[in-house]
This record gives sequence, C-alpha cells and structure tokens, in this order.
Amino acid sequence: MTPHDKLFIPGPVEVSEKTRAAFARPMIGHRGEAFKNLYREIHPRLQGLFGTKQPVFLSTSSAWGVMEAAIRNVVRERVLCCMCGAFSDKWLDVARRCGKEAEALQVEWGKHIDQKAIDHELASGRFDAVTLIHNETSTGVMNPLPEICCTLAKYPDIALVLDTVSSFSALPIAMDALGIDVMLTGAQKALALPPGFSLFSVSEKAFARAEKQKDRGYYFDFLEFKKQQTEFMTPSTPSVGHIFALQSKLEDIFNETLPARFARHARTNALVHDWVAGRGFEFFAEENFRSLTLTCVKNNRGIDVAKLVRDLREDHHLVIDGGYGKIKGQTFRLSNMGDETEETVAHLLACLDNCLG
Ligand SMILES: *Cc1c(COP(=O)(O)O)cnc(C)c1O
Repeated sequence: MTPHDKLFIPGPVEVSEKTRAAFARPMIGHRGEAFKNLYREIHPRLQGLFGTKQPVFLSTSSAWGVMEAAIRNVVRERVLCCMCGAFSDKWLDVARRCGKEAEALQVEWGKHIDQKAIDHELASGRFDAVTLIHNETSTGVMNPLPEICCTLAKYPDIALVLDTVSSFSALPIAMDALGIDVMLTGAQKALALPPGFSLFSVSEKAFARAEKQKDRGYYFDFLEFKKQQTEFMTPSTPSVGHIFALQSKLEDIFNETLPARFARHARTNALVHDWVAGRGFEFFAEENFRSLTLTCVKNNRGIDVAKLVRDLREDHHLVIDGGYGKIKGQTFRLSNMGDETEETVAHLLACLDNCLG
C-alpha cells in the first residue's frame, strides 16, 4: 500500500487508525437497546466536554446543518452576525436565506471581534440573537470568548449561538458558565473524526425560544432532538459509524485527561509559532488573538505557496492548506488539531524546512 497523504490542513484533519477501526464496526439498529446504551454511555462525557448539564445532541450533518438549525430554532427576528473570516462571514447569508433579518458586525480578516463593538450594537435593542465563531478557521483568529460572554450577560433576552468547530476540546469552553445558548461543533476538525457529523447542546432559554418559533422544520427541530434524547435516541437514523468513532475518541480524550489534552495543544501550537517567527514569517492573525489549534501564516516572504503545498505532498506525503478564499497564496495554514503531538508537528516543520530549502 502506498503511504496515504497525512492531513495537516485545518479540517478535515488526520483520523487515527483506532478511530477508523471504530468507524468501520458492524452496524447496530438505532432503535434498539445497543444504540441506547451507546448514547447513554457517551452522554456524560459529552456533557463534560461541553461544560453543560443540558442534553448533548448527535446530528448527522456537517456543522453547517446545525448552524442553520440554530438560526431557525432560536432567532426570532433579527440576528447580529459577528464576522471576521470566511466561516463567520457566511453566517449572515445563511440567516438571510432562512428568512431572518441579519446584520453584520464585520471586522477586517485577521482581526478579532471586540466585546465593546458587540455591546454597542446590542445596546440598540434591535437584536434578539448573536452568532459568533469562537475560532475563525480561515484566518487563525480566536475570539475572546469569556469577555464576549461577559458582555452578553448584560442582555438576558439575547441568545448567543456559538460555533466551536475548530476549537472544541482543545481548550476549556464551559457552555453553562459562559451562558452560551447553542453551542455546536463538527466532527472533522478539533475532534479528528471523519467528516459528516456534528454535536450540539441547547440552553433552557433557547429551548423556550424554539417552542414559540414557527418554521423550525423537522430534521433540525431542537424540540425533536430533546424529546428523543430523553430515551437516548435521535429523531432520524443517525450515522452510527460516527457514534462508534466518537465513543472511541472520548475514550482517548479521557484517558489522556483534559488538562493534558489542553496542554498538548498549547505546546504543539507554540512549536508552530516558534517556527513561523524563526523562519522570518509573520502571523495573519493579530497578536493576543491567535488560535491555539491552527496557525495562519502570512506569506510576507513572497514564497510560491502552491509549490510549497505541492512539494510537501509529493516529497513527504503531508498536506497543508494554501490559504482560504480571498487569502489563498497570501497565507498558508498549519493545523495542530486532534491527535498531533510535539513529535508529529516537529516532523511537519522539518519537512517544511526541507521544501523551503
Ligand atoms: C469547517 C468549519 C465550519 C463548516 O463545517 P462543515 O463541516 O463544512 O459544515 C464551520 N465553522 C468553522 C469554524 C469551521 O472551521
């Protein structure tokens, strides 16, 4: 077998052999005891990771499914979309396509969302919900979540919808303590599972909203998820392979322990940062707001990014990203999400050096 190309792109990331074996286990029926026992077993660990006492739901969709669901279940009339990169920018369009009034709180790519700017917008009294991406994967910016949540706490009638797709489980994000109303994450990034699945949790406040909401649809109706979860089932047939893979991943996470997992991400991220500075590159994201799970490197040296990406794949079977959307070629991104260690990241950096000559 030829060696596969190992993914260091910020999603999908490399999936371990153990996880792939779990994903490929023989199927079970999703209305039987075996499935209920599976969901029941993983549920407390999921609540632990989310930092919540609320139910945690299993969605057979990519993260965008739940992002759209959050709009439909929670936004009454007008939502403020905090926008600082490709993923967060897109949410404005999604909200409008769901028939909501949506307005942008836009900052330049590479900059963070400031809580004072949110405060200023919300003080107008025009919004009933806010969308925020914790870790903007396209730019490598990590927004100041505790500060933003502190500001949101002044507005108890406004719901916060938070995307943690590329930061979940890499650092603590305590949903209940922070007052997050919908918290969601995907499978293929921070959790290093195969793509096509997501997890989310919903506050009491957001459930109460959903009850009054028309046009929640069916597939993503939060109240259907809630009802089914009381019996450890899902509204429709879930991707059972993903749930086996998740069970295996939770085993890994809790065997490693959360503090050790958080510390590992901090160390591998620091290694990448040292490499960037040591090789005369700059960071695309502004200082103090840089992601802990990926690094968006600014191509200030004017290298041929497409060639670097190609050489790394052909010579070393490693895949990095050559910049997302409008910053393609002007940046490249290196991920330290999932199972990466100091050893594997050091290997990536050595191969980059080799390609850069
Ligand atoms: C990748 C990504 C998404 C979209 O995930 P899909 O799996 O493509 O739906 C959303 N938000 C963030 C922050 C992401 O990095």
